[in-house]
Amino acid sequence: MTVTSAGPTAATEAAEAPTFRNFIAGEWVESVSGRTFESRNPADVRDVIGRFQASTAADVAMAIRAAEAALPMWQRMPAPKRGEILYRFGALLAEHKERLARALTREMGKVLTEARGDVQEGIDIAFLMAGEGRRMFGDTVPSELPDKWAMSVRQPIGIAGIITPWNFPIAIPCWKMMPALVTGNTVVFKPASDTPHCATLLVELMAEAGFPPGTVNLVTGSGAEVGDAIVDSPDVRVISFTGHSETGKAIAQRAGARLKRLALELGGKNGIVVLADADLDLATEGILWSAFGTTGQRCTACSRVIVEERVLEPLLARLEAGARRLRLGDGLVEATDVGPLINAAAVEKVERYVEIGRREGELVCGGRRATGPGLEHGHFFEPTIFTGVAPMARIAQEEIFGPVLSVIPVADYQAAVTALNQTRYGLSSSIYTRDVNTAFRAMRDFETGIVYVNAGTIGAETHLPFGGWKETGNGHREAGHAALDTFTEWKAIYVDFSGRLQRAQIDNQPS
Ligand code: NDP
Repeated sequence: MTVTSAGPTAATEAAEAPTFRNFIAGEWVESVSGRTFESRNPADVRDVIGRFQASTAADVAMAIRAAEAALPMWQRMPAPKRGEILYRFGALLAEHKERLARALTREMGKVLTEARGDVQEGIDIAFLMAGEGRRMFGDTVPSELPDKWAMSVRQPIGIAGIITPWNFPIAIPCWKMMPALVTGNTVVFKPASDTPHCATLLVELMAEAGFPPGTVNLVTGSGAEVGDAIVDSPDVRVISFTGHSETGKAIAQRAGARLKRLALELGGKNGIVVLADADLDLATEGILWSAFGTTGQRCTACSRVIVEERVLEPLLARLEAGARRLRLGDGLVEATDVGPLINAAAVEKVERYVEIGRREGELVCGGRRATGPGLEHGHFFEPTIFTGVAPMARIAQEEIFGPVLSVIPVADYQAAVTALNQTRYGLSSSIYTRDVNTAFRAMRDFETGIVYVNAGTIGAETHLPFGGWKETGNGHREAGHAALDTFTEWKAIYVDFSGRLQRAQIDNQPS
């Protein structure tokens, strides 16, 4: 693999690293714990980005009180006015896009081009949801009785708990907080412990945009302390969570005991089907981008290629050549194609799966920690491809969340559909074919929330519903109009202007 280097490191020593605080009731405050934790650059772990509050249930309780106090004012503010604040926030994100993207790459590792895309998703959803302030449609329908009006409106649920992962540290919090806020909820936001700096920068801009004190509250700290306290609080009526399926299931049990609204966006094992009539060069580009972009750490990353046997060899040759050309390094260097994994535990997990893969398939390339100048102090792993993998092999079934691709040969389209759907996940999928009839069959047959034709498994746009089938989630969707469903209650309203008692289902029936 080729290696790029940022040159002399701009690492911040631990002693010089700034300390950041929680944001509660419009104030930047320290945790009552008096403890902090560090966030480090995964491309060079000597670089300490900052220290963040290791918060406790007591901090969460303060944030919830602040969110509760702000709720009546925020709910009564006309939705178009709330939308205007979202619009200002979107404009601020756009103004600060480059600064945020650089901070994102430094803290999370993805290459700068992708980090800019991450921020852009935040901008897009802020503007989309700003517009929802003037839409937020309900239904006005005829009543079955004379002189009676019938309609439905959306109303906010209350306090929203927002718990987010590290892999899209700007986009995902925006995907959740923008619909929560425009619909009149107030927010307690707990970001992943690997990316608290991105969260802090985001909330700074939200405060600058004019979200009133208490409407947005940031509490950093561990899932076990801060996350659990949010999930267990009876006052937090809706939780929106993105992360691992196992964490999601545990949250679902606790939230279920309190009958909370809960939206889960969980793991994926996304597949690309390549049929014999496909444009193999196009398919190769899409697969490499989907498998190794963000170092395979996207929920929509492609980790399975299901290929018709007749074109296995030419496709594999292209994939291997392409993977070997990818340049690993610090994502802040423009020439870098693939950045580091998020942390040491992620590298160890990928290593464990590579060992499993050696028993389940044939290693084509990669399979090792990446070494070389510029990589010594980061969590780098070589882009890895296995071939001859069976659909039910562990590396084809379990979410590795790293740069590991399994190639699964199949006899024909029908076998490809079976293999593609033989997984407990159902987020994204794709098919490469030149046959329009087969493409339409795939759109019908693939059991995923997102299907691409002649494109990779990544590239969702914010105005369409985003989410997965099966164990990728629990039926909710982010983005698009669908996002409003997570954060609103429906209220049906009837206005009788007949001046007399009218009984539905009774007075309008033949006697
Ligand atoms: P985790 O599940 O480890 O963590 C996600 C968030 O949950 C973090 O903020 C974490 O805090 C918090 N958390 C951990 N334990 C608890 C708990 N007991 N109660 C409440 N909160 C808790 O996921 P990752 O951050 O590692 O993210 C990667 C995963 O996210 C992958 O599985 C990926 O597929 C999935 N994902 C899904 C997407 C989708 O839309 N379907 C999109 C993006 C990612 P802390 O960091 O402090 O541990």
